[in-house]
Amino acid sequence: MKHYTLFGNPVSHSKSPCMHNLAFLGLGEEALYTRTLLEDGTKLREVFFEQGLMGANVTVPHKEDALRACDEVDSFAMAVGAVNTIVRKGDKLHGYNTDALGFLKALQKFEKDIQTILILGAGGSAKAISVILREAGYDVTILNRSHARLESFKESGFATYTFEDFEATPYDLIVNSTSAGLEDNALPTPKTMLVELLSNAKASIDIIYGKATPFLQLSQNYNLPTKDGSDMLLYQGVLAFEKFTQGRYTFEEIEKYMKRAFI
Ligand code: NDP
Repeated sequence: MKHYTLFGNPVSHSKSPCMHNLAFLGLGEEALYTRTLLEDGTKLREVFFEQGLMGANVTVPHKEDALRACDEVDSFAMAVGAVNTIVRKGDKLHGYNTDALGFLKALQKFEKDIQTILILGAGGSAKAISVILREAGYDVTILNRSHARLESFKESGFATYTFEDFEATPYDLIVNSTSAGLEDNALPTPKTMLVELLSNAKASIDIIYGKATPFLQLSQNYNLPTKDGSDMLLYQGVLAFEKFTQGRYTFEEIEKYMKRAFI
């Protein structure tokens, strides 16, 4: 029986074990996917080999440590500085980032008529999403409440703003990639700014999943097509599973079983 796990802190809330076990079961793979609460991210490689794992996913706050734990990291994961999927090949660990492609797939299935995108937040997920969206040809701008994390975006050539120097010109899509609304009732920007943005937008996405955040609730007041982060989560999982099973199954075959975790 092959063993896979999710490393993170916390991990108890995660849907990933359910998603992957449904796909393993449905596709007849002899494999088990567990969750591993990891406090010290620098121990990831050691724990990986101790548990005899064949692969793993990695969530907050260990995605940068996961990159350092790998022997080989694919170019996209290297560009965003974060690994969320590890596959063991012999005695080497190979690292990938499927979060961003998961987001892109979710967006492309959701809205076709999008060119300009404003990303709220400048954390790890904003980094991954912004790089893949730019590669896919979208015009991407970043707005964050504070300066520090914007520096690396600026160095990569993105237009970046804080609330102080931002002027709310129209954007087709507004993406909330902050954690505002995850465990509180906060909006990701001052309300007047968000109202102006949403009233001129074509659609909005919150990457937080499984709850109607204040951001999504406000978007609905403007009759915008809205989407939470469930599809991003599902698709990053499907893409990770493709890596775990070395491409033996198509995206659709995996999705068919994995999406049952969201019923
Ligand atoms: P990080 O901790 O790396 O970054 C958090 C960002 O949110 C920072 O830019 C921070 O700003 C900003 N922020 C936090 N609180 C507030 C607030 N009250 N108001 C305005 N801005 C705020 O987080 P991640 O990028 O890793 O994750 C962000 C969210 O994305 C989480 O809610 C997570 O659940 C979700 N997520 C969903 C995924 C999915 O598959 N659907 C995958 C990955 C993440 P500052 O720099 O000023 O501190």
